[in-house]
Amino acid sequence: MPAEFIQFHKPHLDQKTIDSVVETLKSGWWTTGPKVLKFEEEFRKFVGAKYAVAVSSWTAAAHLMLEAINLKEGDEVIIPSITFTATAEIICYFNAVPVIVDVDPFTLNIDPKAVEKAITSKTKAIIPVHYGGIPCEMDQLLILAEKYNLKIIEDAAHAFPSYYKNRMIGTLGDATGFSFYVTKPLASGEGGMITTDNEEIAKRASVMRLHGIDKDGWKRYTKEGSWYYEVIAPGFKYNFTDIQAAIAINQLMEAEKLLSARKHVSDYYDSVFANNELLDIISIPDDRKTSYHLYVIKLNLDALKIDRAEFIELMKERGVGCSVHFIPLYKHPYYRDKFKLDPGKFPVSESQYSRLVSLPIYPDLSDREMHHSSNSVIEILTENRR
Ligand SMILES: *Cc1c(COP(=O)(O)O)cnc(C)c1O
Repeated sequence: MPAEFIQFHKPHLDQKTIDSVVETLKSGWWTTGPKVLKFEEEFRKFVGAKYAVAVSSWTAAAHLMLEAINLKEGDEVIIPSITFTATAEIICYFNAVPVIVDVDPFTLNIDPKAVEKAITSKTKAIIPVHYGGIPCEMDQLLILAEKYNLKIIEDAAHAFPSYYKNRMIGTLGDATGFSFYVTKPLASGEGGMITTDNEEIAKRASVMRLHGIDKDGWKRYTKEGSWYYEVIAPGFKYNFTDIQAAIAINQLMEAEKLLSARKHVSDYYDSVFANNELLDIISIPDDRKTSYHLYVIKLNLDALKIDRAEFIELMKERGVGCSVHFIPLYKHPYYRDKFKLDPGKFPVSESQYSRLVSLPIYPDLSDREMHHSSNSVIEILTENRR
């Protein structure tokens, strides 16, 4: 193992963030307080949505959004095969059915044609996942939603900030969930946000994120607060904290800078990998802008003597950490067995999955590191050409 190992991901940290966290700790607001409110307001303005509701994770956000649209046992929700298990598990919380469909071979985003084929009288919603930060074909999905009276609840865990036809992700569907998990483009360790223009969804999610307490439950220990509150439903404990918000506010203020730092890495990788017959890269459709959350290469396995697992091992030997996004849902024992999923029903996912490798991309990745990472890719592929 080389002395220096390039981690697959490292969070961005600056002195301002450290100072802000220390100041928050000294302020006594360790859980939900003024910083969370400020972050919600700044995030809402940045995205251009009517409401923003901060929560403890994307998973919490999605649970609340599906609760707010009144998802019921037996309802069906259409999701893509290539995503994280969170996208599917939240549907199972309701004893509803995740209907897993195939993806587009180029962007790996949910395929609108596969979505339409999967719609039944029980379909209640679609959860598009903006894979790696590249927005899904939203117009086609919005047309389907209108035609079949479905809700669109977006998985924007990767997509901050991303744009579809100059509209920001977070303003298109009925409601959108963001993740602030440590690896995500805006990170606070753990955290999430719902954005929506729908007042009912925003209100219900705000109440349910903190025990179902009617309103401003977090204020009850302040001067303006009162000891009296009413519980209107058995809610959850999904609130965001001021310590997390201190980190998130700084990341939000730096969002453009962090984005261009990721773009710098992506542009460099693109320039090195273009026109190499041993791999394919994902090109961004002209009408969209990505957050550059992931940089995914697709190995041309037919031209190689090694498989993806061997490739990742060789990258590791050269000191470069890689990952895979994602193991298709139908391959996991739970979904495969419970919903009797046949891999043959997902030909695109099947042909793409075994080729996918995610390379390091983050603002603090140095030029030297990105050169080493891309050189390693080229050397390994060239040495292992069939
Ligand atoms: C990270 C991720 C999630 C889950 O986000 P959490 O904030 O960790 O709950 C959901 N969907 C996708 C596509 C993700 O990558």
